[in-house]
Amino acid sequence: MTSYTKGPWYFKRHKEDYADQILGPDKYSVIATLSTNGSGSREKSGTTETNGRLIAAAPEMLGVLERIVLFDNNQTNKQGKHIGIYHESSCPCDICVVIRKARGEI
Ligand SMILES: [Zn+2]
Repeated sequence: MTSYTKGPWYFKRHKEDYADQILGPDKYSVIATLSTNGSGSREKSGTTETNGRLIAAAPEMLGVLERIVLFDNNQTNKQGKHIGIYHESSCPCDICVVIRKARGEI
């Protein structure tokens, strides 16, 4: 599976009627462009910005979840210490399911 662009990602609110974007760690490369309301004008509810901030936080949220769950008993952090709690690779708990979903495994 292709890996995703490593985080952090940033939400970029554009002025006027340009679509907001999710930018990569260099704050230049575009990860995603958020849609407007279809007419090219920005919606007033702030939903697009809220959605954008959630999307931008995804790599960090995935990273946190992957530190909580161990799929391999020999998994260690950069300091060589065991972290998290071991879960079977097919564990049906919510955390494992969302990690597999984000990785495109389910
Ligand atoms: Zn689990």
